[in-house]
Amino acid sequence: MKIIAIGRNYAAHAKELNNPVPGNPVIFLKPDTAVLKDNKPFYIPDFSSDIHYELEVVLKICKEGKHIAEKFAPKYYEEIGLGIDFTARDIQSLHKEKGLPWELAKAFDNSAAISNFIPKSEIADLQDLEFELKINQERRQLGNTSHMLFSFDYIISFVSRYITLKKGDLIFTGTPEGVGKVKQGDKLEAFMQGKPFLNFDIK
Ligand code: MG
Repeated sequence: MKIIAIGRNYAAHAKELNNPVPGNPVIFLKPDTAVLKDNKPFYIPDFSSDIHYELEVVLKICKEGKHIAEKFAPKYYEEIGLGIDFTARDIQSLHKEKGLPWELAKAFDNSAAISNFIPKSEIADLQDLEFELKINQERRQLGNTSHMLFSFDYIISFVSRYITLKKGDLIFTGTPEGVGKVKQGDKLEAFMQGKPFLNFDIK
């Protein structure tokens, strides 16, 4: 499986990092070795002193598809969850300055924490879905999919023009504003529509 992640899909987040709001989705990949699940702790790697959390809604692809029309995109994901796109912001900033790719900042081991997934049919309106990150019981991010620049269906259509989607692939759909640094001892809790999805420690 592969993980496809969308950058700058919430205007307020693009702005907080001084990035322009994009005309097309910004795409990057994480390998399967990035997956961190079952609420296992995240260990801060030794190569970064500025690891950021980014809470995102994650789609799980349920069948293979290429050149998927936007109107058929809903048939390609049945389940939805939450994830943290851990980012070595110090490395990313350096690589952005130099015009280098982001992999070392985004694709390292355990950089894609994921929750369990629920059927999307349990969500009343996917385009009005609230999700929240608390650290040490304090709210850090509160997002709503109504603020996405590119919808789930558009993302699937856009990505599948270039990359075949396969069953089990995950799509991280971008983070809202409020990103920041994690430190040892932090406890991360994420909620979708008020229900707990993630609960794990930073070590
Ligand atoms: Mg992200």
